[in-house]
This record gives sequence, C-alpha cells and structure tokens, in this order.
Amino acid sequence: MTTGPGHQVAHQVAIVGAGFSGLCMAIQLKRDGVRDFVVFDKGADIGGVWRDNVYPGCGCDVPSHLYSYSFARYAGWSRAYPKQREILDYLHRCVRRWKLGPHLRLGTEIVAAHWEPQERLWRLRDAAGSEYTARVLVCGVGQLNRPRYPSVAGRETFAGAAFHSARWDAAWPPEAFAGKDVAVIGTGPSAVQFVPEIARYARTLYVFQRSANWVIPKYDYAFGPLARRAFRTVPGLRLAMRGFMYAVVGETLLYSAIAGSPLGRVVQKFSTRHLNKQIPDDADLRAKLTPDFPIGCKRILISDDWYPALARDNVEVVTEPVTEVTTGGVRTADGRERDVSVLVYGTGFRATEFLAPIDIVGRDGVRLQDRWREGATAYLGIAVPEFPNMFLLYGPTTNLGHNSVVYMIESQVRYIMSWLRAARNGQVEVAEGALARYDATMRRLLSRTAWEGGCTSWYMTAGGRVVNNWPLRSYRYRMATSRPRARDFLVP
Ligand code: NAP
Repeated sequence: MTTGPGHQVAHQVAIVGAGFSGLCMAIQLKRDGVRDFVVFDKGADIGGVWRDNVYPGCGCDVPSHLYSYSFARYAGWSRAYPKQREILDYLHRCVRRWKLGPHLRLGTEIVAAHWEPQERLWRLRDAAGSEYTARVLVCGVGQLNRPRYPSVAGRETFAGAAFHSARWDAAWPPEAFAGKDVAVIGTGPSAVQFVPEIARYARTLYVFQRSANWVIPKYDYAFGPLARRAFRTVPGLRLAMRGFMYAVVGETLLYSAIAGSPLGRVVQKFSTRHLNKQIPDDADLRAKLTPDFPIGCKRILISDDWYPALARDNVEVVTEPVTEVTTGGVRTADGRERDVSVLVYGTGFRATEFLAPIDIVGRDGVRLQDRWREGATAYLGIAVPEFPNMFLLYGPTTNLGHNSVVYMIESQVRYIMSWLRAARNGQVEVAEGALARYDATMRRLLSRTAWEGGCTSWYMTAGGRVVNNWPLRSYRYRMATSRPRARDFLVP
C-alpha cells in the first residue's frame, strides 16, 4: 500500500513478539483477511515466556481449559494445570492452524522503532541493522521477559554453576542436582515450581526467603482417558469448565483476596489451613512461612508440593537477608556462609520497564522511555499519546493477579482490530486528556487494592507505584475495551 508519494510501505502491520499476545494479534489479522503483516521475535522459536522458561516443573497455575484462546479451545489437555511443553505445543498448533509460518521473522530482535511523520509509518531496525517499515506497530513483548538478578555483592565471583530460573542451564535437569549442595534465592511463583523438583535430588538445599507468601492448594491432577474423551465429545463441556474456572475461582474467590473483601479473609484462612495441614509438626517452619502482609498483596501462590518440599530434612529455609555471594556460597546478615556448588536465582523479572530496551520514538521526537520516567502508563494499557498507530498488548495496567491474562490479551486484540477496521489507511492517536482521565481512575482504584497494602512486588516501580495491574474484575476490562470511543482519539 502507499501512504504518500513515492513511499512504499513494506507492511501494513508489524507485530513485535511471538508469544501469546503477538500470535493472538496475528491470528485475528489473518481471520480478518489482512495478509500483509509480519511478526518479529528475538528468539529462535515462538512462545515467549513459554519458550524461555524451561526450568524443572515449569507450568501454569491457571487451569488448562482457561489458559488458552477462547477461539481455539483445546480438548486434549493432559492435566488440570498445563505444563510448559504442553502450552508451547498448543501455541505451535495455533501457528500451524492459522498458517502463520510465512509471517514469522524469528531470531530478529527489534531494537528501535521510530515514527516517520511525513510518510506516516513506523521505521523499525533490528539488532543486525536491517530496517523494516509498517503503517501500524503492535508491541506484544510481554512483561516478564527480562530476568532480574539481585544486586548482591560478589555475584560474579561465585565459582560454581549459577543461573536464573528463566535461563535454566540445560546441563542441569533435576537428577543433576543429586549429591549437590544448592542455594535458591527467591520464593515466588517460579521457585515454587522448581524447588520441589530439585529438592528431591539435592544433598542440601538452602532456600533463601526474603518474604513468605500466601499459598493455596492447586489440586492438580491428570485427566484420564474418559475425561479427555468427554472434553472432545460432550458439547459445551470445555466451555463450562472454562466458565467455572473464570467466574467462580478467578472472578469470585481469587479476586476477593485482591479487593480485600470479607471473602478474601476466608481465602486467607484457607491458605493458613493449607500450611498447617501440610506442615503439622514444625511450628518454627510454619512461623517462617507465614506472611506479614494481607493476602493478595503479592501474587497468591498455588501449589500442592511447595510446603512438603520445604519440610524435607535436606531443605533449610533461610530467612536471614542475603548480604553477599562468595566464591563458594552465600553469606547472610548474621555473618554465616552456607557452602554451595549450585546457585539458582528465582528472583523474577524487570517487569515495570515496559518495552525496554527497544528505543521507541514517536511524534516530534518524543521517546517512550522519557514519557514513562515516572512509570509506564497507557490508555487502557493499549495506546500512548504522541505515538500514532502504535498499540500495546499486555501493557501497563493489564496484568491480572486473579485470572487468565489471555482473556485480557484477547480484549486488547479485539479493541485494536476495531481501530484498524475503522481507520484502515489513516492515523490514530489517543488524546492526552483520555489518558489523563484513565490514569486518574486507575490510581484511585489501585490504591484500594491489596497490592498497595504494605508489601513490595514486581507490580511496583522503585517509586512505589503499581503500574502493571488491572484493579477491577477482568470482565470490566472487557467492557471498557468493547468498542473504541472516537472522542478519546485524535484522527487527523
Ligand atoms: P517474582 O514473583 O518477582 O519473585 C521473585 C522472588 O525473588 C521473590 O520471592 C523475591 O522476594 C525474591 N528476591 C528478589 N530479589 C531478592 C534478593 N535480593 N534477596 C532475596 N530474595 C530476593 O518472580 P517469579 O517467581 O519468577 O515470578 C514472576 C511472575 O511470573 C509471577 O508473578 C507470575 O506472574 C509469572 N509466573 C507465573 C507462573 C504461573 O504458573 N502462571 C509461574 C511462574 C511465574 P520478595 O517477595 O521479598 O520481593
């Protein structure tokens, strides 16, 4: 297509990221008859976090029948909660079903995207220096793709094997931990999944815990052949399962914890009961594992085997703060050093630095990272003033602590598709006033949630602002994004 005299636009739409978000966008473009789009990803495969996270025990704590696209419900899930490999296979099946292969540009890291006002297009550059142009830019790079290492002295001096959970060293399957003394720093959702796997093999496992978390049971189980057949053949069964998980478990029970409602206190009691039941005879350990903040402030952990792993004789939960990594171990504030030969960082991601390190420059030379110095913000988490024809997927204020993020992503893709249909060859840009109003509402609503209830988490910037999460029930987001409001946008 042509947007100005002599300026050939290489692509109608450029999508950055081939994870759940980017692929969802690509599929909907394809279903809508748009053929001229490309999907860039820095990785050698699709899948985003489900490609990167291959630590032992990696899976999703959202039920299988809910953690999938609504338009591609899958009958063949092997268990109630999907494992990493099964989710990655599911995404590969989607790529094949919608014949996305020719649109993928894998191993292509986009490092810069600049808006060209004359030509009204985005000029993208990859790490190898090649350039691409597109009328519309859709960023689906996720929130959890850049590992965060603790800023502890001596980290680089450690002489043994050391790696982050999201960059698991393939030379270290669980059995390789046999006879080893191992340290794990961090006790978040990732550690909760891999610690039980390696605890079975390690000679000694020290789990360095800065904060205890609220944990509820997962009740995970494998679907038998009968159940799987039923999911395949009984009309409406998959949808009913999905609906139950979405409405009852997510929107009602888990949301109540975030909203700090009386039902949330019941969930907290349920969590305490889970702890008491799984560690009945060690009051000291129970005390260490009891959080000092209300439930919902950090992500609630969902696990059947975390507490039993920590109660093992070969496992010690260390609550003294880590002060130093030495050549041979980890030192804590009390001066004690624990000798280990393997050190695993389960310390999370640089989640509040949205879209970093891509250099995105919009209208009038404005840099996105400058606009976001006080914290990332986007209208509905999707659009940013001064950045025409640019849309974000899973952007600021769209993460959930209680339900499937795939639901949010689908809401965003529908919304963007409406805009693309309405302004097929034009230019759209959200108005400053619309973002200011949205922001004020978000700040007011977020301040009432448990996330700002006295703990720190990856949802917060260093300045103490929660920027990642959507504060209401997720169906409210679906409603808010049901149709673009023309008055919130500038359409030249
Ligand atoms: P995380 O939730 O950010 O947890 C990081 C852990 O490392 C926390 O326990 C943190 O303690 C600890 N930590 C960080 N710096 C430390 C230091 N200097 N010393 C001691 N401890 C330190 O990271 P994550 O477990 O990788 O999970 C991140 C997100 O990924 C999750 O919230 C979730 O959204 C997603 N995820 C999802 C699943 C799933 O099943 N759906 C599974 C894994 C991950 P503090 O709590 O004190 O900060």
